[in-house]
Amino acid sequence: MSLPDGVALLLAPNPSPMTLTGTNTYLVCGSTGCAIIDPGPEIEEHLRAVADEARALGGAQAILITHGHPDHVEGAARLRELTGAPIWAWSREGSPTADMALNDGGIVSLGDRALQAVFTPGHRYDHLCFLLEDSGRDTGVVFAGDLVAGAGTVVIAPPEGDLNEYLASLSHLLAEEPRLLLPGHGPARDDARAVLEGYIAHREDRERQLLSALSAEPAPIPLLVNRIYTDVPAFLHAVAAYSTLAGLIKLEREKRVVRLPATDNAEESPALQEHSPLALEGVVGRPDGLTARWRLV
Ligand SMILES: [Zn+2]
Repeated sequence: MSLPDGVALLLAPNPSPMTLTGTNTYLVCGSTGCAIIDPGPEIEEHLRAVADEARALGGAQAILITHGHPDHVEGAARLRELTGAPIWAWSREGSPTADMALNDGGIVSLGDRALQAVFTPGHRYDHLCFLLEDSGRDTGVVFAGDLVAGAGTVVIAPPEGDLNEYLASLSHLLAEEPRLLLPGHGPARDDARAVLEGYIAHREDRERQLLSALSAEPAPIPLLVNRIYTDVPAFLHAVAAYSTLAGLIKLEREKRVVRLPATDNAEESPALQEHSPLALEGVVGRPDGLTARWRLV
């Protein structure tokens, strides 16, 4: 699929089950220079290629961060050295190397076009999408970060991820009437409305599955994962455990489930072991609730 005029894509060489073919670094160029969206990981060869491309396209004016996961932001400081451009992100809490904070609706001007930040938390608390403002030339183009992926779904890992916020963000972006989604991983999607509606429907399906896997008998998350994720390879069950926790926290807020402490002799499940693919996305530590047992109210 061809990219809009004045938009270039450089793929970072960090493929994995979580990042698909790698992180997409986009350059968006206007009459006064380029914005670079998501530098990607700190891989010198990739960052130099991005800086060279920006120079060839009129110079880097801003480095924009969709969210603070390392596969998106890690290379930002080095890219700032190479280009002299400042780093913009939702917050310094989310992206410690940021120079400027971008609010919801914040505009980064590139002369004859601009990028508008759309606050879309859920995948992570600091997530931004960027809407291309192009005076009607190219409407509905959204740089989507990890709100959606070019293939499959995205991970919601508490406590940084939040399913209620994620669902609200999908609806928020739908209201912006997007046409083309340019995700942080995988190919562009020109059926933006169908993709966003499909993501919402998928989460509703998973919630129905979660509710039917639960009962009045307390169950630990690995057991629920085994009941629900029969279609997912075992090495991704650690990821599924976090998504299941995100779903349980939503149901807990709605007073439909309760959590109970883990039993003392709870076995360490392979599904909760360290070195999960989540580490690639910088998800570390054990959120509250991952080892709890859960039952219906
Ligand atoms: Zn991410």
